[in-house]
Amino acid sequence: MKILWLDLNSSYAHSSLALPALHAQISDNQDLEWDIVSATINENPGATAGEIFRKQPDIIAATCWLFNHEILLHILSKAKALLPQCCIILGGPEFLGDNEQFLKLFSFVDCVLRGEGEHSFTKWLGCKDQPKKWNNIEGLCWLDKTSGKYYDNGTARVIDFQNLNAPENSKFFNWEKPFVQLETTRGCFNTCAFCVSGREKPVRNLSIEAIKERIRNIYHHGIRNIRVLDRTFNFNIRHAKALLNLFKEYPEIRFHLEIHPALLTQELKDELAKMPKGLLHLEAGIQSLREKVLTTAQRKGQLKDAIKGLEFLCSLDNMETHADLIAGLPYYQLEEIFEDIRTLAQLGAGEIQLESLKLLPGTEMRKRATELGIRYSPMPPYEVLQTNEISPDELNTARLLSRMVDAFYNTEAWQAFTRKLIIKEQDFLHLLLKYLKEKGVADQPMGLEKRGLLLYNFCKEYYPQYETQATIAWIEAGMSLKKQPASKIRTKHVCPPKEWKIIYGTYNENMRLCYLPNETGVHSYWFGFEEESQNRQPIFKAISPSL
Ligand code: SF4
Repeated sequence: MKILWLDLNSSYAHSSLALPALHAQISDNQDLEWDIVSATINENPGATAGEIFRKQPDIIAATCWLFNHEILLHILSKAKALLPQCCIILGGPEFLGDNEQFLKLFSFVDCVLRGEGEHSFTKWLGCKDQPKKWNNIEGLCWLDKTSGKYYDNGTARVIDFQNLNAPENSKFFNWEKPFVQLETTRGCFNTCAFCVSGREKPVRNLSIEAIKERIRNIYHHGIRNIRVLDRTFNFNIRHAKALLNLFKEYPEIRFHLEIHPALLTQELKDELAKMPKGLLHLEAGIQSLREKVLTTAQRKGQLKDAIKGLEFLCSLDNMETHADLIAGLPYYQLEEIFEDIRTLAQLGAGEIQLESLKLLPGTEMRKRATELGIRYSPMPPYEVLQTNEISPDELNTARLLSRMVDAFYNTEAWQAFTRKLIIKEQDFLHLLLKYLKEKGVADQPMGLEKRGLLLYNFCKEYYPQYETQATIAWIEAGMSLKKQPASKIRTKHVCPPKEWKIIYGTYNENMRLCYLPNETGVHSYWFGFEEESQNRQPIFKAISPSL
């Protein structure tokens, strides 16, 4: 029997953990031959279906999630037309809700698995041709081919999570990517109504010993970035401390963690403050800085504690902390989103992600959508279109705001300057967004230089008092000194003054020294560049003493 895994991702940068996670549980069996077809959602579905046809599988299996849902079904419908005897089984987050309608609508799919598939999939392979036995398979949902009756075996949970064979032991584990995902925990203690993990109980952890073994293996494969899949890394303080100690043994690796800032104890704060620089990269779940929004979303954790925790994390210079907000949550208004971005910038978040809410199948919020006044797209990705508090137009503004924050605040070259403007100028975010819309670029991808030019021209028009700062940001980002934002800089025959205050770097005579006179009469600036170097960023900066 030949099983073909259709690995359909949004790009080749991503790879799914599902295949190796399932394959690792199944002993090598001469009767079972495994094959894989990998594709991205941007490829032609007919071509991918043709590739599947050439492999002549008996079973096609795949994971279905928000962003591959539509193309996956296109491919599978074609594959089934070419291979009518082939059995199609799907799993993934798209099947956490009611699966009856799906199976009726897409009758070329034979069955779907709801929940954690490792044990159920293995069991199903053992009785694939005997549907009578399917009743014993936890999480399996299907329609009886003759009677059309729907069968639903609930949600599969792998309670002995720690006994699973590690995905890295599968020949299908992808070692080619620059980072790997390491699932150390299943389930989440929290109950956020919009999240599929909000109902994943109980929480199950791998032992520190098991995690150690797996990190060692990953390290020996040359991987230096690990995304730790633990919904709330700091839920169990003892476990979190033990993990931090373990991570310290691998100073070359960067560990990406999700953290709940409201649950930081002093003990954990002390540990975090002592971590080596660059070892951790934190994603802090915030979602909103409004009490009512968070209570309605059933998120546990006090808001004031979350703000204090985030402030602490952002103050650490040994790690970067990203924070997220979600537009479209009930009771969350557009103006509040603007204000919350300002607060996060003030706290010093390393990045601010503004997501738009999607009502995922199986979530509490989707069930209560009508009661909460939420209208959402019935098609993936099920994005919220309107709530009682935010109109479709305002949600579109939030989407453009998210792009703008990404293009400026979340971009290292423009972050410091953008942060300053967000904090100091109440209207900055509104005005910059208006400016980008007027220029017709708010919804367009823009290169680094174009963003710098826009920011400079915007400042000239709306905040002329920041023009010099915009020029400095331009120079320090390594942009061309021949372009307009640097038009006032003198690049020829510049000599050091009698007195200057060094901001960074050490001056030497071999440097190319440039001079930026300040017309507002406070400071002038000198920038030193390496001669003959590809690096266009200054390595030296000095200012004149205050007048
Ligand atoms: S949003 Fe985060 S904290 Fe809330 S339930 Fe989901 S994984 Fe847990």
